[in-house]
Amino acid sequence: MQTVTNNRRGRASLTDQFWRSRSAPLALVCGGIVIALVVTALFAAVLYQGRLDAMERARETSRNLALVAERDIERNLELYALSLQAVVDGVRDPEVMALPPRLRAQVLFDRATTARDLGAILVLDASGNIIIDSASEVARTGNFADRRYFTVQRDNPNAGLYISDPYESRLRDGSPSIAMTRRISRPDGSFAGIALITINLDYFHRLFAGLSLGPHGAISLIGKSGIMVMRQPYDERTPGRDISKASTFRRFRTAAEGSFSETASIDGVRRFYYFRNFPDLPLIIMVAEAEQDIYAGWRRRAITIGSLMAAFALGFVGLSFLLGAQLRRRMRAESELELLARTDGLTGLHNRRTLGEILEQEWRRARRTRSMFSLLFVDIDRFKAYNDTYGHQAGDDALAAVARCIRDNIRRPADSAARYGGEEFVVVLPDTAPGGASQIAEQIRAAISELAIEHAGSEYGRVTASIGAASWCPDQQGDVSSVIRAADEALYSAKASGRNRVGQFRASGTGGADLRQP
Ligand code: GH3
Ligand code: MG
Ligand code: MG
Repeated sequence: MQTVTNNRRGRASLTDQFWRSRSAPLALVCGGIVIALVVTALFAAVLYQGRLDAMERARETSRNLALVAERDIERNLELYALSLQAVVDGVRDPEVMALPPRLRAQVLFDRATTARDLGAILVLDASGNIIIDSASEVARTGNFADRRYFTVQRDNPNAGLYISDPYESRLRDGSPSIAMTRRISRPDGSFAGIALITINLDYFHRLFAGLSLGPHGAISLIGKSGIMVMRQPYDERTPGRDISKASTFRRFRTAAEGSFSETASIDGVRRFYYFRNFPDLPLIIMVAEAEQDIYAGWRRRAITIGSLMAAFALGFVGLSFLLGAQLRRRMRAESELELLARTDGLTGLHNRRTLGEILEQEWRRARRTRSMFSLLFVDIDRFKAYNDTYGHQAGDDALAAVARCIRDNIRRPADSAARYGGEEFVVVLPDTAPGGASQIAEQIRAAISELAIEHAGSEYGRVTASIGAASWCPDQQGDVSSVIRAADEALYSAKASGRNRVGQFRASGTGGADLRQP
């Protein structure tokens, strides 16, 4: 129990020591700054994480949008490809071809021909002329031998399903379309024509228009050769545009799917790009979200929280500075008070209380280091008479002058002088032998006399002082009070033998004192 209490006391005094130490105000300010920095860093980390989360959400959204669009396109084109295959198979069947046109149309073209965005299903002969038309019983006239979707099938028996780049339909007033074609071969493998299905680009336009990508976002469908099929936001010049040379497009071809951030050279907007190459179709879908849209919500929050945080940090640091300054002022006031409490107001020397502390400390040190310890007792001669003659104020001035004189004659840093009371002073001389002590005493005595302060009531006609000196040797018994008593005794002898002299206490045990006369 005792130990615990002692520990607590020990800790309390450590805290106390901290608040009293000179570095406490600086530590307070530094602590305030460190706390503000740590809290700011924590908030910055949280904000940064929020930014990463915003990007992660954008990545997910882009991926989901691309997947939804890809699935829809894939499903529809797969259905159209099946319809096309049915036409090719039907045309090869002589029995089907022998049917009257209306029945033949019912066999060749399933319900897909009525789909909203399907332009028409056509069968072209080897010269590119329409021979069968899903849109009318009597085929419309038209020759498409110049179209790439025709020449690819004509020149390559193994072209398979071909999906064309966007073109303007001649049959439907130039409306933008893409075509899917398949070759029709005769039994000997020679080219007999193609089956063709045209898809209105409105389908892609509507599909993309329904997807929300923020004010600066974009979604594009691009052919693997770099020809744009559709883009949202829509621009009628987009379908058919060649972007194969663009750096972004080149990156789309490097992997099946991926993402990257890049600044678009056209509008200088930095976007996050997500792309997917269709696994079974020669198409690429790309979703781009502008970083300014991705981070818009985050930025609003960051500005609000950041400003609050900055205000808090600045306020905290400011408060620390204020507290630091306050503490510094308080410490200065305390040390001034302490100095006042330790000093004699009239003479500026240590007061009696401080003298007690100094004596205790120096005495302990002297015993520990076994060094000589000397003490002088200074008393002004006939001072009562001085007061009576010249008045109390003049007495005070004389006291102050004598005190200055004593202070000026002790030069070693360890030496100290104090006002013992009234017109009596004590000089503590650590580590000083009797010889050195009486030498200093003599200097002080002579200096006081040399002040030549007129004193009519004195036998010397001037203000003088008597000094008793005593020393303690390490091999001697006794304590500090016995040294003071000895110095007092030596002073008494000095007074008794005529004043204005130094009395040296002799450690002979006789109680007598050696006297030095002026
Ligand atoms: P001596 O020491 O030579 O035997 O004679 P003394 O007259 O100095 O002896 P004493 O101790 O009887 O008188 C001391 C006088 O010092 C008493 C008082 O008038 C004066 N004194 C003490 N303190 C002060 C002070 O603060 N200011 C002034 N002006 N006088 C003081
Ligand atoms: Mg006295
Ligand atoms: Mg006196």
